[in-house]
Amino acid sequence: MSGVPAPGAAGDQLTVGVLALQGDFEAHSAVLVRLGALVREVRVPDDLDGLDGIVIPGGESTTITLGIEREQLGDPLRAFHASGKPIFGTCAGLIMLDRDHLAIADIRAERNAFGRQVRSFEAEVDLGLDGGPIEAVFIRAPWIAEHGPGVEVLAEIEGHAVAARDGSVLVVAFHPELGDDDRVHALFLQSVRDARLAAT
Ligand code: GLN
Repeated sequence: MSGVPAPGAAGDQLTVGVLALQGDFEAHSAVLVRLGALVREVRVPDDLDGLDGIVIPGGESTTITLGIEREQLGDPLRAFHASGKPIFGTCAGLIMLDRDHLAIADIRAERNAFGRQVRSFEAEVDLGLDGGPIEAVFIRAPWIAEHGPGVEVLAEIEGHAVAARDGSVLVVAFHPELGDDDRVHALFLQSVRDARLAAT
């Protein structure tokens, strides 16, 4: 049977990119594969071709910024967003999507907002998902200091927004790829599936 896809299988599978310039992209890939997506690591603009959505992982936003400049990925990522394809930014990925970086989400991130090293912590975050709050890992995390009127805040910690949606863009300040709770990635994949259906 090798090479013969099951009826409807290959064509229905979502292909999701993970920006792989720096940071914990492998952990994101593992979750996406677990949820049934095909995953492609993205390093250069051509890697975006044919993707249904992309994840911008956590890491170090200054290093990721340099990588995006070096590979000239800024305009292609903005075009990817303009075409309606969903983008999911986590931690440094949230920072990358804000007004001061890629300007894809109408938010302003405050870097290391909980304090530098001391404030790596776990906290319950309620995104309103079935199954209750997420036990979320924050590592030198940002929060969303400002946002435009079109942004829906999904969760707050100590009065600060740590998860939000701006149209097809989902951002969280924590690391949903750590641990075995896949619900935030499942939420993202649902938006990827919906966007693909809407485009066909
Ligand atoms: N503190 C990092 C930054 O500002 C983000 C940390 C993370 O992604 N875990 O880029």
